[in-house]
Amino acid sequence: MTILDGKKISNDIKAEIKAEVDEMKANGEKVPHLAAIIVGNDGASMTYVNTKVKACEKVGFESTLVRMSSTTSEVELMDKIEKLNKEDSIDGFIVQLPLPPQIDTQKVLLAVDPDKDVDGFHPTNFGKMSLDMTSFIPATPFGILELLERYNIPTKGKHTVVIGRSHIVGRPMSILMGRSGFPGNSTVTLTHEYTKNITQITSQADIVIIAVGIPDFLKAEMIKDDAVVIDVGITRVPDESTKKGYVLKGDVDFENASKKASYITPVPGGVGPMTIAMLLKNTLLAREQRRERK
Ligand code: NAP
Repeated sequence: MTILDGKKISNDIKAEIKAEVDEMKANGEKVPHLAAIIVGNDGASMTYVNTKVKACEKVGFESTLVRMSSTTSEVELMDKIEKLNKEDSIDGFIVQLPLPPQIDTQKVLLAVDPDKDVDGFHPTNFGKMSLDMTSFIPATPFGILELLERYNIPTKGKHTVVIGRSHIVGRPMSILMGRSGFPGNSTVTLTHEYTKNITQITSQADIVIIAVGIPDFLKAEMIKDDAVVIDVGITRVPDESTKKGYVLKGDVDFENASKKASYITPVPGGVGPMTIAMLLKNTLLAREQRRERK
């Protein structure tokens, strides 16, 4: 069994990005600039967004954090997005989700200029991805592709079962694994809450990619011997014995499933760090595309 070390691979990717940024600087070129908007002060969202900003600094990007209060109206947020769309120095930006209830998330995501949509959530990018066109691929699925590629895990002709159909992970993942090329060319089954006899399906899978947010959902008896298991889930489970008061749990019963799997991602240290690295990669791509258009 091999543990897919997302921490190591993400550090490799960040080092590659930093080398490109250093070269840009040496040539007197503008470096990539990522902006992030956060509305409200939800603890987990603040942690995620601060991690993204810090990661930008480490690779030499410029970064801007836009903090807006939890009472921000939809109009105020749309105004801010419009400003970032027009701001020439910004190559890409993200709107940290979830948003407060007074704001329509779909409307907000539609307002982001697709050329600056480094999260890959705009329908234009999602459509292009589905049509095998160049686009921004959502960071988490992009990170999973990168892990499969760097560990050279065969996907052609394999049966990939994706559990969870969220717009940011499961749904795009199912499309990407079925595209032609590597990683891809899989036969894909997309499962969700209404899927019947899920064990019957997962036990036939060569590759299982799970994003449901239910700790220990995927048990060892649900996978076949030598399956590849990718765990996207991150749930904060209260644990008074820790300094933070919680531990992070994945969607896989790692202890038992790892005895059966050929490759498996840990939580933390698997898919999570890859997501940040791929957001940086998308921002670098955004900068390069903007440079080419000028
Ligand atoms: P989500 O929006 O939380 O939705 C959960 C999905 O799981 C839904 O599609 C739901 O099906 C499905 N589901 C729920 N119960 C199920 C069951 N019994 N059998 C099969 N499917 C079931 O999904 P998400 O945003 O992708 O998040 C999932 C997890 O991944 C969370 O823990 C989240 O924190 C984590 N995550 C991690 C990263 C990272 O960087 N590592 C990034 C994003 C998300 P229905 O559609 O039928 O309701």
